[in-house]
Amino acid sequence: MIERLPTPWGLVRLGVAPDHPKLKEVSRVYEKIAQRPGFRFLGNVEVGKVIEHRELMRLYDAIIYANGAQTDRRLGIPGEELPGSWAATGLVAWYNGHPDFQGLTFDLSGERAIVIGNGNVALDVARMLALTRGELAPTDITDPAIEAIVGASIREILVLGRRGPVQAAWTPTELREMGELAGADIVVDPAELELDPASAAELADASNIVQRNVEILHEFASRDSSGIGRTVHLRFCVSPVAILGEESVEAVEIVRNRLEADATGRIRAVSTDEREVIRCGIVFRSVGYHGVALPEVPFDASAGTMPNEGGRVLDEGGRPIPGLYCAGWIKRGPTGVIGTNKKDATETVDLLLEDARAGVLPERPAGGIDGLIAERGVDVITYSGWEAIDVIERARGEKQSRPRVKLCTWDELLAAARSG
Ligand code: NAP
Repeated sequence: MIERLPTPWGLVRLGVAPDHPKLKEVSRVYEKIAQRPGFRFLGNVEVGKVIEHRELMRLYDAIIYANGAQTDRRLGIPGEELPGSWAATGLVAWYNGHPDFQGLTFDLSGERAIVIGNGNVALDVARMLALTRGELAPTDITDPAIEAIVGASIREILVLGRRGPVQAAWTPTELREMGELAGADIVVDPAELELDPASAAELADASNIVQRNVEILHEFASRDSSGIGRTVHLRFCVSPVAILGEESVEAVEIVRNRLEADATGRIRAVSTDEREVIRCGIVFRSVGYHGVALPEVPFDASAGTMPNEGGRVLDEGGRPIPGLYCAGWIKRGPTGVIGTNKKDATETVDLLLEDARAGVLPERPAGGIDGLIAERGVDVITYSGWEAIDVIERARGEKQSRPRVKLCTWDELLAAARSG
């Protein structure tokens, strides 16, 4: 397992919200696999920088890329680049202690934060900004993030969906949690839950997930405000058209949408003439992730994925490249929860094994990577190096009854790994 960072687990460590420790329990699967003979972890080794794809292809019978979707999708509206307009992914990486994001400074001194998007990441961001010290303290969020969130002047977190309650991409468990916050009210305007005919028809045939989402929203809409602290306000059928401000974000201009079914039956948002300017101090764009190309590896730039069939990576002529596979978000795009990606990885590995049995895999002589990496002069983190980081983090956490207190800088991580 080759990894750019000194630590394994990808989004389980650096993406899953700190207040969702149960979701992180999947890391035990990694721990079990790592104990198997033949497994090796090589951290701090970036493909395309320390080692090239073509070198890996010469060294291994098969390669599976599972490098995810490392950047955010853009809105493509004026003002998107203003200071104070952030990709939600940046905030998530920052509060989770990603060593490349610790230098970011989020100005949370405004009274309103706007989150654009109606997916689970948007809910994570809105919820994290609304948590109290009591809720944050027992988690593995970084200490600077606790202080920044608790000390923020934010009174309202406004979440904007371009389509309606029936089309929201979030899941019921995550939505329900928004109504269980110790220091924040959830606000939904009942008028925004009135459905257009196309959405009503969609709801009638919709999955349990969608039906439950809509029920939960109705329950939220029936609540009175308790005035306990911050407010999370969910709005629907509005799109940002510009992020406004002189030197930094001061407001977002939105347009009201009506919904209509297109030729394929998909319900899409169509702008009306109704516009509104909402003042705010900070904006988090949470409209999805996007994959990034690796040098020399086939890539479909518009989809942000590797062209593939079930995980077999395809060449320009659409033929599988022997020994080259992909799994997870770089295979399918940034959709689905952890369970979806487990199933997806199984599909890829089944095909790899099928190819191995059919004698399709190129056979490479064993060994060789250590020599190459040594030539490049990098400080490789082995699994025992990661275990040393893990022990230190857990020990720091134990003193504070937290699962761990993360090491968040490259220097700290490399030093801890060396100590192991
Ligand atoms: P997502 O589920 O794809 O949601 C993206 C949201 O952005 C959608 O509501 C989408 O609306 C909206 N959007 C896209 N382009 C837009 C635009 N130009 N203007 C306004 N809105 C726009 O993506 P995500 O929230 O980043 O999550 C990624 C994946 O990780 C998802 O599968 C999610 O479930 C998963 N995840 C799971 C958890 C969890 O299990 N707790 C936590 C975090 C993430 P449309 O539908 O109209 O396109």
